Amino acid sequence: MVDVKCLSCKRRITNVKGTVKFKCPNCLKYDIVRCTSCREKAVKYRCPECSFSGPN
Ligand SMILES: [Zn+2]
Ligand SMILES: [Zn+2]
Repeated sequence: MVDVKCLSCKRRITNVKGTVKFKCPNCLKYDIVRCTSCREKAVKYRCPECSFSGPN
């Protein structure tokens, strides 16, 4: 089982409801993972692959 962590707050979010996972919209290589609370607060994330950052 993969230990999924929120990219913004680094919390473990395996099996946490409302978590979103999507490919980086810029490089399409990295899976961006965000937890519910970071989405609600619009906490920024940054892609480790291409340094793209954004709220969505
Ligand atoms: Zn988070
Ligand atoms: Zn990227």
